[in-house]
Amino acid sequence: MITYVSRKLVSMWNQLIGKKGRITSHHSPPLRTKDVQLDNNYVKDLAKKYTGKLLLRDEIVVQEALFQKLLTYRIFTPIPSIQNGLFFTKCIRCNNKKKSLFAEIPCSRCQKRHRYCRNCINMGRVMECEHLYYWSGERYRWPQLKSPCTWNGTLTEAQQHAADKIMETVKRGGEQLVWAVTGAGKTEMLFQGITTALELGKRVCIATPRADVVRELLPRLQRAFTSLHIQALYSGSRDNDGTAQLMIATTHQLLRYQHAFDVLIIDEIDAFPFHHDKSLQFAARRAAKKNAARIYLTATPRKKLRNRVMTKKIDYVFVPVRFHGLPLEIPNLFYCSSLKRRLENNMLPEKFIQWLKEREKPTRQMLIFVPTIQLANSLREPLISLFLHHQLISNQKEMISVHAEDKVREEKITSFREKKIYALITTTILERGVTFPSIDVAVLDAGHIIFDEAALVQITGRAGRSPVDPKGEVVFFHDGKTDAMIMARDSILEMNKRAMKLTTNSKKE
Ligand SMILES: [Zn+2]
Ligand SMILES: [Zn+2]
Repeated sequence: MITYVSRKLVSMWNQLIGKKGRITSHHSPPLRTKDVQLDNNYVKDLAKKYTGKLLLRDEIVVQEALFQKLLTYRIFTPIPSIQNGLFFTKCIRCNNKKKSLFAEIPCSRCQKRHRYCRNCINMGRVMECEHLYYWSGERYRWPQLKSPCTWNGTLTEAQQHAADKIMETVKRGGEQLVWAVTGAGKTEMLFQGITTALELGKRVCIATPRADVVRELLPRLQRAFTSLHIQALYSGSRDNDGTAQLMIATTHQLLRYQHAFDVLIIDEIDAFPFHHDKSLQFAARRAAKKNAARIYLTATPRKKLRNRVMTKKIDYVFVPVRFHGLPLEIPNLFYCSSLKRRLENNMLPEKFIQWLKEREKPTRQMLIFVPTIQLANSLREPLISLFLHHQLISNQKEMISVHAEDKVREEKITSFREKKIYALITTTILERGVTFPSIDVAVLDAGHIIFDEAALVQITGRAGRSPVDPKGEVVFFHDGKTDAMIMARDSILEMNKRAMKLTTNSKKE
């Protein structure tokens, strides 16, 4: 019986791939609703598009009759989207098992009420009666590209050391942590590893928790791999069918993949929401192939990862020195009494006004961090008047605010980058992953709980990134020092010490 079934399957497959000559047309698929024909090349196109994905039916762009045929040939395999056990319910897409994150709604198709997963609803609703589908046909083989990298810059010694480690991991598989200070030039350290992967016909994904980081990385990668089609996936991205050999994606997008990538690089691994969202960590594990290389990049690893480093449970490489060789800026801490109350009443602290007058280089642009969206909006007016008064801006358009819920945040960040805007008031969305060449940084109410150690180190790291202007002022305005502030400053001092040691040692050699 088994032999009969497998023989039958083989014959079905042969028929499908044209071995018996019935389906050998090289034209686009002749599609008839009653008698659906499958074209060999068409299936190959589908393989490129769907290998390594886990999707809902409406995310698969294939006509129903044809889709049914693909199911019959087991080229797509359905699995239940929500698993119901005796004592548990689990969403197969995001691995959510929390009862409170499931809800019920009436289903128009089945005329009854169904469970759905609230945890991954942003990726399209997963209903109990729907299936998820994965590609079980022949997997698409990515080409072995010849010298895809067009970047011809040079790496510093510290960068090269990390790049070598990354390259080894790409070849060998397994985990590698790259712990590199802000402004160390992490992206450039990846180029050789990515090149090696592409030359070996591997598929690479750089994932990061933040959409802003994806948008920042795309042009930089594209400049380094000019003739390569690179896709960036984030909510709202346009070129988003996920068919590129090199992809950049938010970690949320990984929920649509399984066993897809030979190399998975997670940039800013400690960033919100990835570090505390178990379903995103699950998605990242599933998106990579079993023996994939997994490379994690961060300037501020969280405790758990640091513990793995201490106990030698993960291979790591440390890059304590910025690519321009100068130390990290040290934040200044300015105490301002009743700061919270003043800010809530749209009053700016005296210390801030004084600092504004005494800044070393008023031509530098400014990033002003605030803890809440409300403050980002309400402080704009008093800040505009102050900046106009001191002639730092000539009209109010040169000072704007931006936050996560802002629909035009991309445009605003671009205008800041193009220096059309002098000062940007921002929430923590711009704490990391973005590079502006010459800026000073102020944090208003740095003692707020949202500014943890990692956030403050990252915010400080926005300053002094350009080799042309490798310095920048960073000031935390607070009404009481927090542990986070002290630890952030201490860890920056420690990094600078290590960088100094490294540079002196390499000079001795
Ligand atoms: Zn239903
Ligand atoms: Zn889910």
